Amino acid sequence: MQAVAKGSKQAVQAAAQELVRFVNRSPSPYHVVAECRSRLLQAGFQELKETEHWDIRPAHKYFVTRNCSTLIAFAVGGQFQPGNGFSLLGAHTDSPCLRVKRRSKRGQVGMVQVGVETYGGGIWNTWFDRDLTVAGRVIIKNPTTGRLEQHLVYVERPILRIPHLAIHLQRSINENFGPNTEHHLVPILATAVQEELEKEVLMEGTPCDAAAQTERHSPALLSLLCSQLKVKPEQIVELELCLADTQPATLGGAFDEFIFSPRLDNLHSCYCALQALIDSCMAPSSLSQEPNVRLIALYDNEEVGSESAQGAESLLTELVLRRISASPQNLTAFEEAMAKSYMISADMAHAVHPNYVDKHEENHRPAFHKGPVIKVNSNQRYASTAVTEAVIRDIAARVGVPLQEFMVRNDTPCGTTIGPILASRLGLRVLDIGCPQLAMHSIREMCCTSGVLQSIALFKGFFELLPEVSSSMMVD
Ligand SMILES: [Zn+2]
Repeated sequence: MQAVAKGSKQAVQAAAQELVRFVNRSPSPYHVVAECRSRLLQAGFQELKETEHWDIRPAHKYFVTRNCSTLIAFAVGGQFQPGNGFSLLGAHTDSPCLRVKRRSKRGQVGMVQVGVETYGGGIWNTWFDRDLTVAGRVIIKNPTTGRLEQHLVYVERPILRIPHLAIHLQRSINENFGPNTEHHLVPILATAVQEELEKEVLMEGTPCDAAAQTERHSPALLSLLCSQLKVKPEQIVELELCLADTQPATLGGAFDEFIFSPRLDNLHSCYCALQALIDSCMAPSSLSQEPNVRLIALYDNEEVGSESAQGAESLLTELVLRRISASPQNLTAFEEAMAKSYMISADMAHAVHPNYVDKHEENHRPAFHKGPVIKVNSNQRYASTAVTEAVIRDIAARVGVPLQEFMVRNDTPCGTTIGPILASRLGLRVLDIGCPQLAMHSIREMCCTSGVLQSIALFKGFFELLPEVSSSMMVD
C-alpha cells in the first residue's frame, strides 16, 4: 500500500496524463457528461432514463443523466437490500466561463463581435489575450422528421479573442486591472470587411428562417457552427455555448510535476470520482460482498449556486436515491438508507501560494504533493465534521494516502461547495475534501500531478472500505 502513497513517478504521470485527456475533451458541462457517459458505457454501465421504469439489481452498474449536464452513476452491491446505505461521491461539471448571449450579434468600428455573459465567479482579466473558441450544445430542427434534436458542438481552433488595450493607452493598468464585464469582455470574431467578402459563401441559399438567426448571431459565427454540425443555418433553433481556451491542458514544470490546465475546478474531482468508481467495480467479483450502493453525482451549476433542475440543490439526488431504495416490503427503506449513508463532496482546495503566503493561516497551508485536503469550517461553508473526518482518516491510512487540512483565516471569506447543500437537504454525513491547486477560477489553473493518483486511490478505498469502517463508528 505504501506504493500508492509515494507512487512511482511513472504511475503518477500516467494518471495525470489521463486527467489531461479528460479535460481536453470536456470544454463544456455537456462535453463533460458526454465524456463520462462514453467511459461508463465502455466499463459496462447501463444507461437509465428518468422517464422510464428502473429495474435495479444487485451487482449491476447503471447511470442516468439530466439535461445532459449532470450525471449520476452507481454500482449496486451484490449484498444490497433496500434500506442499505449509499457511499456517495459528489463533484461539479461546470466551471466559470463566458457564455454566448441569446442575441450575440455585436460590433464596433468595423469589428464583428460576439456578446457574452459571465458565468460564475471567474478571474475575468485572465480571459484577455487568449486564443478562444466556443463549445456547447445546439438545438437543431431535423428537416426530414421535423424533430428537435440536441447536438454537441466544439470548434477546435482559435476563433475569438479579447485583446488587452495597449499599456500606452492606459498607463495605470498594472496597478488595478478589473475589466467592466459588459463593455470590455466582448470577444472579436472577424472584421466586418472580411465577413462581407465571405458572405456569399457563408449564407449561400439562406432562406428567411435563417435570416431570423442572423439577426441574433453573426453570419460568421453561424457558419462556423453549421460547418461543424453539417447543418444549414435555418436548422439552428437555439444554442448554449461556452467560450473556452484552445490551449490544451498539459503537464509542466522543470520535472513535469505540475498540470497547467483550464477547468481543474472541478474536472479534477469529476475525473477522479469517475475513475475510482469504474476501478472499484472492474474485477468480476468486486461487488459480491458489497452491502452499499457506490454512487457518484456530478452536478451542473455549482458555480452559480446550484439552484437549477440539474443542480445539487434540486430534488434529483433524492429522487434517484429513493428509486434505488424503493421496496414494497420496506416503506421506510429510504429513511433508513440516509442514516447509513456517507458522502464525500470533492472540490478543489487552495494550495498555499509562495508569493502570498500570508493569505493562509500558518497551520493550514496545503502544499503540492502532500495529499488531498480536508476542508473544515465551523460556520458550515464546508460540511466536514469530526465524525466524517475520522472515517476518511481511517480509510486514507489503510490505502496509504496522505491528507492535509484547510481552514480559512478568520479575516477572509470562505468559499463553499455542494457539501453543505446535500448535508442539509438529505441529512447525510458529508466530508469536504479536494486536491490543492493554484489560480482557482483563472482561465488556466495549476495543480500537481500526484493529486490525481492520490485522489483515485483514496476514492477507490472509500468505495471498498466504507461499509466496514463506518459500521465501526455509529454516532446517532
Ligand atoms: Zn469548484
